[in-house]
Amino acid sequence: MIIKTSGIVIFEQTILEKDKLLTILTKKEGLIRAFAKGAKNFLRCNSSAFSLFCYSDFILYKTKNSYNLGEACSIKYFFDLRYNLEKLSLAEYFCELIINLSVQPQESNKILRLMLNSLHFLLEETLDKSILKSIFEIRILCASGYSPNLCCCKKCLSRKDDGFYLVSIEGCIYCKKCLYTTKNRFIELSRGTLLALRHIVSSSLEKAFYFSLSEENKRNFCKTCEEYTISCIEKKINTLVFYKQICKI
Ligand SMILES: [Zn+2]
Repeated sequence: MIIKTSGIVIFEQTILEKDKLLTILTKKEGLIRAFAKGAKNFLRCNSSAFSLFCYSDFILYKTKNSYNLGEACSIKYFFDLRYNLEKLSLAEYFCELIINLSVQPQESNKILRLMLNSLHFLLEETLDKSILKSIFEIRILCASGYSPNLCCCKKCLSRKDDGFYLVSIEGCIYCKKCLYTTKNRFIELSRGTLLALRHIVSSSLEKAFYFSLSEENKRNFCKTCEEYTISCIEKKINTLVFYKQICKI
């Protein structure tokens, strides 16, 4: 069966020197792994259309157990990320999150648009990198079924704007009065953090990247997003460890 789809290569492995196994986040098919047989010969003909961080139109041949790459035609390159280790390591962290959160075909386009927008902001440096990282974390978790319930206290349903604590493992918030009812680890949310989180969770993708946050709130916000991500992924995220070493966070 022939499949035509656009997508971005988020991981590549060389196999037996000549072949490549590509992990592609596609528009409609979810996350797929496709063999590019004789990839070195391919590269001469098709430039870099199926290299890491290239967004391309693909023609794939679907067999019983795998996909084989037929053609690739590039739409947009994000190769310049490679010239900055901090940007590259953050982009690789985005890729690892996508791979870890098994992308369902129905959410595929949403996650692809999130990735393309995030790489654009990363390349153009139009957004603070730590804020961008946090937005990506929350949006991909929401698209993968880990949307936190931030509207009110889980116990008493209080809907104030401050005085809340996020219990990551439960994916919900508690007010100060009710916090004693949970034994799970919690993180105190500043008012700015809670409002920013609510904005990211409930806005359209285009609007999700735009909000203001004071320097004082930024720290609490980024820490909260990262802790929530680690709690949802439930395993060591190597690219996150590397990114933090690079940034000396
Ligand atoms: Zn309460």
